[in-house]
Amino acid sequence: MFDSNLTEEQRLMRDAAREFAEKRLYPNAEHFDQSEVLPDDLLAELGELGYFGMLIPEVYGGMGLEPIAYSLVIEEFARACAGLAITVSVHNTLISSAIARFGSDEQKKKFLPRLAAGEIGAYALTEPDYGTDASGIRLPAKSDGDSFVLNGTKMFVTNANYAKIYLVFVSTNPAAGHKGLSALIVDRHTPGFEIGKAERKLGIKASDTRALSFSDSRIPKANLVGAEGDGLKIALTQLDHGRIGVALQALGIGESALQQAREYAKVRKQFNRPIAEFQAIAFKLADMRLKLDASRLLIDRALRKQCAGEKFTLEAAEAKLFSSEAANWVANEAVQIHGGYGYMKEYPVERYFRDARITEIYEGTSEAQRIVISRAVLSET
Ligand SMILES: Cc1cc2nc3c(=O)[nH]c(=O)nc-3n(C[C@H](O)[C@H](O)[C@H](O)COP(=O)(O)OP(=O)(O)OC[C@H]3O[C@@H](n4cnc5c(N)ncnc54)[C@H](O)[C@@H]3O)c2cc1C
Repeated sequence: MFDSNLTEEQRLMRDAAREFAEKRLYPNAEHFDQSEVLPDDLLAELGELGYFGMLIPEVYGGMGLEPIAYSLVIEEFARACAGLAITVSVHNTLISSAIARFGSDEQKKKFLPRLAAGEIGAYALTEPDYGTDASGIRLPAKSDGDSFVLNGTKMFVTNANYAKIYLVFVSTNPAAGHKGLSALIVDRHTPGFEIGKAERKLGIKASDTRALSFSDSRIPKANLVGAEGDGLKIALTQLDHGRIGVALQALGIGESALQQAREYAKVRKQFNRPIAEFQAIAFKLADMRLKLDASRLLIDRALRKQCAGEKFTLEAAEAKLFSSEAANWVANEAVQIHGGYGYMKEYPVERYFRDARITEIYEGTSEAQRIVISRAVLSET
């Protein structure tokens, strides 16, 4: 994560992602935001370049990247277009790596090459009445011969309309509560499966967010990931990984906000001096750098634990919580440094300010991260 610690391979991945972002994302990010969609040709190009197979083993057609190289790509994408970064991050960390980690050999052979080639994935856990309380989800999946029959609704699904393959969390045994939750792979063309209308959002508008509904949709039992009852374990394991992705998204937004604020402060003059010469402004820039460096350190720590094969739930929660709050703070200060111009759509800080907000909400709210962290504190002796 810090340049001096990177291997040659990691640097190459970062530089390639940066080059792609400079050519394809920075010049178009504002348009993606306004049109509230990512163009099909851009998604196809990302697929051709392998960015949808970053965490899939090479034997299934992926790049088989280790977490740090992968993280560098997500940060570069997030600096340019936060909506695109979460599209790529959700696909890789929440779906592809879930199937790679928990799927059967058959499922890996069937789905991973498709995901690696750019058929996008979505992760459907949240329901209308269950968000933070993921253990309460209850979309029923009734056993019927060699299928499960699904009826119900999932909410706020990222990539819903970009996706072809969905990882859907259901209840296969309501009497067992959270121990009766299971994970199913659902194909887009399943009869009775419908994708809702696009949600109109505050930020990350280029990402796609919709509800999914199921009406007597038959899902083959062969698509059950892991065993019946493994659903919550799979959902939460993948969220540990996803939370680092959201932390990186926040870091990327914050870095771009700081860069814009710094450049603006050097050229904007008031009282015949660049505003950067006023200590009130220079100290804002100092605090912005400090918070972003602290975010990077926490993310780096979580990644290194992940690379070492150790449990990193706590470190991912701390990285996500701190980085998302830092990004919101930094983006707010970037708007302030721009004065009235920062409130206008002509300057990208307005978009960073809106995009940063979601990082404190999805993949576990800030309150949910504090629950994880406070439990760890209270168990310390
Ligand atoms: C743009 C977007 C994309 C999303 N993408 C996905 C996706 O791809 N897949 C998916 O499954 N979900 C997705 N989500 C859902 C997201 O993860 C949830 O919105 C989030 O987990 C919060 O759940 P909720 O909205 O139901 O809020 P609630 O759980 O109802 O929370 C409301 C408030 O109460 C607080 N709260 C709740 N419980 C506690 C507690 N025990 N202690 C203290 N405070 C508490 C929360 O922190 C929050 O402030 C997405 C959401 C959005 C907005």
